[in-house]
Amino acid sequence: MEDSLRNQYAHVPERISGLVDLAYNLWWSWNPEVRALFKQVNPQAWKESIHNPVRMLREIPIEFLKRAAENPAYLRRYDIVMRRFRKYLNATGTWFSEQYPGHRSLSVAYFSAEYGLHHSLPIYAGGLGFLAGDHLKEASDLGLPMVAIGFMYSQGYLHQQINPDGWQEDITEPLDHDMAPLTRVLDSAGEDLVVQVPHIDPPIYVAVWKVEVGRIPLYLLDTDIPCNEPGNRGISSRLYTGDLEQRLRQEIVLGIGGRKVLHALGIEYAAVHLNEGHPAFALLERVRERVERGMEFDEALEQVRATSVFTSHTPVPAGHDVFPIDLIDRYFKAYYPALGIDRKEFLQLGVHPQLPNSGFNMTAFALRASEHHNGVSRTHGSVTRQMWRCLWPGTPEATVPIDHVTNGVHVPTWLNHRMRDLYDRHIGSTCPNWLTEHDEPAVWELIDEIPDAELWYLHTWLKAKLFNRIREQERARWAVRRGGGTPHPAVGGAFLNPSALTIGFARRFSTYKRAYLIFEDLERLKRILNNRWYPVQIIFAGKAHPADNEGKRVLQQIYRYTQQPEFGGRIAFVEDYNEKVAQYLVHGVDVWLNNPLPPMEASGTSGMKASLNGVLNLSILDGWWIEGYNGRNGWAFGSEAPAYPGRDAADAAAIYDLLEKEVVPLYYNRSIDDVPHGWVKMMKESIKSNGPRFSARRMVKEYVTRYYPSLLKAADAGYVRIPGEAEPRAPAWEPRAQGKAREESD
Ligand SMILES: *Cc1c(COP(=O)(O)O)cnc(C)c1O
Repeated sequence: MEDSLRNQYAHVPERISGLVDLAYNLWWSWNPEVRALFKQVNPQAWKESIHNPVRMLREIPIEFLKRAAENPAYLRRYDIVMRRFRKYLNATGTWFSEQYPGHRSLSVAYFSAEYGLHHSLPIYAGGLGFLAGDHLKEASDLGLPMVAIGFMYSQGYLHQQINPDGWQEDITEPLDHDMAPLTRVLDSAGEDLVVQVPHIDPPIYVAVWKVEVGRIPLYLLDTDIPCNEPGNRGISSRLYTGDLEQRLRQEIVLGIGGRKVLHALGIEYAAVHLNEGHPAFALLERVRERVERGMEFDEALEQVRATSVFTSHTPVPAGHDVFPIDLIDRYFKAYYPALGIDRKEFLQLGVHPQLPNSGFNMTAFALRASEHHNGVSRTHGSVTRQMWRCLWPGTPEATVPIDHVTNGVHVPTWLNHRMRDLYDRHIGSTCPNWLTEHDEPAVWELIDEIPDAELWYLHTWLKAKLFNRIREQERARWAVRRGGGTPHPAVGGAFLNPSALTIGFARRFSTYKRAYLIFEDLERLKRILNNRWYPVQIIFAGKAHPADNEGKRVLQQIYRYTQQPEFGGRIAFVEDYNEKVAQYLVHGVDVWLNNPLPPMEASGTSGMKASLNGVLNLSILDGWWIEGYNGRNGWAFGSEAPAYPGRDAADAAAIYDLLEKEVVPLYYNRSIDDVPHGWVKMMKESIKSNGPRFSARRMVKEYVTRYYPSLLKAADAGYVRIPGEAEPRAPAWEPRAQGKAREESD
């Protein structure tokens, strides 16, 4: 434990002081036995902390801690978990170390504007962030040497509160840094480390926070420090601002500042992986570092290209960041001379060949400055090739050098722990390491050995838990608002019926996700929901972007439907969708509905989370589902063709047809034991077929096996290290607790 933390947690008895280390490493969040260790200190305190061990350790009465420290049963568990933790941090026998022995010094620096790791760290907006978070967790589990760079958004993403009129209000709740798993990074003198973003005028300074994600350090940049002029302090205050200039400044800080921070931390020996175009200026800074050491621009760019991976997530041109030239001029006037090129050459780097006057295009730049690029599903790979083939004139579309690596989700994070126990009991007897080998399809065939009734009863238990949780959240919110705001019990789920077929629809309220679609034919929907013998209910959740009034209007309309008795109280809306709400939903509904407008869903990941837990997908054929659907593991509808007149009505009709003819009958077809065996068969098929393929383990391994050999070759040629730099210091991910572990190992 670092001294600064030790002082803050002096009240934690020495015998169990390792709890502080655990609380500050998100490893706890994907290991049920560690989570249990916090809960066992005192279940009510755990609940009160909203499952946030940092908060719990700060707020818990000392006598609870003392009691745990004197309880032999507790201490036995504590000792075992601590041993595993230290072993994990020091692990040598990881997948990576076996695949690439002796290559721990070449780390990958992962850059992303957002990370979805845990609800106590609100630095995400949606899927892109969860993908990044899951990538880090899996890279940690696989032993891949990685460091990550992101932003410390002090205001997080806004909280959602729906007013009585159904309108989304965006509530700012400044993050209390003391209650999040964050530590300030200090310099060698013990002061807060502060770094100046190089060659940017007027100057911008950043301070740095550290989050430990298993073995991977994530560094978050923070501009809210006194040495910044007031206008610059707010650069990192919130995610995805609509103000273009502020956004440009954010991307300058993330990319250029992020590189500089890696230097300040002594992490030089790193290839770069960009998650989307926002951090692409990192590549520019890598070029500048080399030019500063006397290299020609072209050679420097070549070295940077050979050691950079760029993952694009955006299937429409309008989704890519493009900055007006006058803004670029304003901020980069001191920068491009430092690259050894003139203004024209500089602007050329970000030109879209077909829209040469549109501004500086971050994706065009990222594609030019990296050698390895990919989309995030098979279809998205092909859409991206079509969209950007203009950068490779004369190349047939099929050979445009843009690949795809289909997204995946971190299985230990998204698989409910009781489900995990169930799989353990039935898979584990044949295949004890099934969780380590979970990207191996054969392992999942063993799912068939689970008795139908066991899987079904656990599912219904998780469903009940979801409903309880929704009502409890509603109660707490109602009390905080002193009864104001939500006089309608229907909204908050009080009317939810645990035995009715339950559809979940939870995602950002972006227009292309078409949350309104199921309301296309109101009469038909009412008939489906209100069927006396076979009732159906829908739970909605999701936030609209604060500037997206269209999205807010859709949300408002749905909110109003929840209150109309004609819908039978069968529609609920859960406020403030976040990681925690997502967990309950993907564990507990029966059907996961997804109906974006193709090809807008580059991949989509929430359906993968659902399928891991036996929740069945009812999804349009777009993104990952084109690869996942096999005719037996859920339902698919819609063509891959993009928008056409009447598309909404056609897609909605396809959903109604499926519900009426297949989904509802299968769900209500019960045997004498009240188990819907046909449904359970489909659940098993969904778990088996999707579990191994859409896991982050498969995904990260794919990134590594595909790109790492070429990065290593480039590293051997000296492309990664900046000329004149010393040999790499300790690998970036050398664990903090190592010294202590050595003392204690026996
Ligand atoms: C997984 C997840 C997302 C992304 O889901 P999509 O299906 O890709 O839209 C968004 N928000 C939360 C809270 C999630 O857990």
